[in-house]
Amino acid sequence: MKLLVKTLCLCAIIFFAGCSRKPADKETGKSAIRVVATIGMIADVAKNVGGERVEVAGLMGPGIDPHLYKASAGDVRVLSQADIILYNGLHLEAKMGDILHHMKNKKVAAVSGTVPEERLLVSQKYADAPDPHIWFDVSLWIIVAQNICDIFAEYDPEHADYYKSNAEAYIRQMSELDTYVKQRALALQEDRRVLITAHDAFHYFGKAYGFEVYGLQGISTEAEAGAADVRKLADFIAARKIPAIFVESSIPRRNVEALQAAVQSRGFNVEIGGELFSDAMGNSGTPEGTYIGMVRHNIDTIADALAGKKSESPHKE
Ligand SMILES: [Zn+2]
Repeated sequence: MKLLVKTLCLCAIIFFAGCSRKPADKETGKSAIRVVATIGMIADVAKNVGGERVEVAGLMGPGIDPHLYKASAGDVRVLSQADIILYNGLHLEAKMGDILHHMKNKKVAAVSGTVPEERLLVSQKYADAPDPHIWFDVSLWIIVAQNICDIFAEYDPEHADYYKSNAEAYIRQMSELDTYVKQRALALQEDRRVLITAHDAFHYFGKAYGFEVYGLQGISTEAEAGAADVRKLADFIAARKIPAIFVESSIPRRNVEALQAAVQSRGFNVEIGGELFSDAMGNSGTPEGTYIGMVRHNIDTIADALAGKKSESPHKE
């Protein structure tokens, strides 16, 4: 494995030597900073904060599950060309630790690094591991945006004011988003605020916006949901008459469909309330292909379905 990484790095260095970079500053001819982000939610914040001074590449596209993602040879090349590498951390990119560790001559930063420890939730499955899904609490992702701003300002101090003013403008939009999610959640009756999804990604969401949260799989998607998990949740849904459960864009639907069938066999009909974007954003060029659009889509889908309204999401199959 180590030899492979070394060989790939060497290839990347050769490739890098042949590349030219777009100038970010027409007057000085200074190049744009190359930023590589693992998940789309980080790439989007980096673009908003870095503006024209950065070129951002995201490794994981729509529908990709970061818990299981392994870097390809092409990714190693992209990572080797980067000036700054941003990843979530908290073991989200569990299979990329080795590769990230080998990128020694770069600024490699876990964007979750500045979130205060007392605001981190502990994984339900692994007692000593934190839950990595911090982007679901918009106020935590604001801390991440601030961190990314500081990382850029430290790397490129000449333009620190530029990053700061971009970050301020973006954080204003994020604060409005946070208020919007709270308003839609509060409009639901309290006993309707129960969110059941394919995997255990929504605990930060639940804590921030007042939902009880249950996932069919553990925090990571590596462990398949067992028959006992399905039975337990099906009993709960039928007893509480929960109107809707949700599929996720980066997780196969079959487990949620099996749960729906199990609830039906208990004489209660639970709808599949729509598709949520959990660990990956939607297609680029669509509203859900941005962090803000993704969070909006999720709360609209959740609030409509739990209120008994049909979601008008274009992604619903
Ligand atoms: Zn996840």
